[in-house]
Amino acid sequence: CGIVGAVALHDIVPTLVQGLQRLEYRGYDSCGVAIHAASLNPAAAGGLVRARSTQRVAELLEQVRTEHLSGGTGIAHTRWATHGAPAVHNAHPHFSHGCTPGAAEQPGRVAVVHNGIIENYEQLRERLQARGYVFASQTDTEVIAHLIDHHYSGDLFAAVQASIAELRGAYAIAVMHKDEPHRVMGARAGSPLVLGVGAGGEAHFLASDAMALAGVTDQIVYLEEGDIADLQRGRYWIVGSSGKPLSQGDRPVRTVH
Ligand code: GLU
Repeated sequence: CGIVGAVALHDIVPTLVQGLQRLEYRGYDSCGVAIHAASLNPAAAGGLVRARSTQRVAELLEQVRTEHLSGGTGIAHTRWATHGAPAVHNAHPHFSHGCTPGAAEQPGRVAVVHNGIIENYEQLRERLQARGYVFASQTDTEVIAHLIDHHYSGDLFAAVQASIAELRGAYAIAVMHKDEPHRVMGARAGSPLVLGVGAGGEAHFLASDAMALAGVTDQIVYLEEGDIADLQRGRYWIVGSSGKPLSQGDRPVRTVH
């Protein structure tokens, strides 16, 4: 239903949760946020951490405060369930913990939020289960997390590109990986996604609707069908469906009011 993501030089959790609050009017049954804990302090222990709730975004905010969730890289979601009942274990972000024996007890490797529907999720789930992936939810979304883990060999862009080639259906996604603390990738096909350019390059954002970024940035790039956005500290790239990097001329930054 709603997506917000960011790579920033400062704590981004309050901005992500505010972004979700701006998308609340669209309706949702649950919400969640995941952060890369080592994104601001490389010495900090821990990688991907998350909080999820089946209550209001205000309750999620309480949770992130109580649990002292903070970091510069994160993704957040309001969910309107299509596959899997409204429940905390079905709320996004979804994690992949890898496919080694006992993986479920290991820290998260990949975090994904998703708007839309993956039509071939049952076939993908069977193939991923055969490779050893254990599913923690009844959603169509969780296959994306495991697929990206399966394709990952050191470069999140390559893993996302290989994974979306296998997806059928409609999606906008935002993705993080534990080994890349300053990177968020986005991709869209059939669901809207925009990139927000922060002042002075101190932060870049993804959102399913520019409204989520009101008061944060008015500099918006509208992604087109098949685009992949690669957000890193102080810079971003957009790669079109042809696989070629696009220039500012192809995807201009627009000022929204
Ligand atoms: N199909 C996904 C789910 O049920 C995403 C729904 C949405 O767009 O919020 O979790």
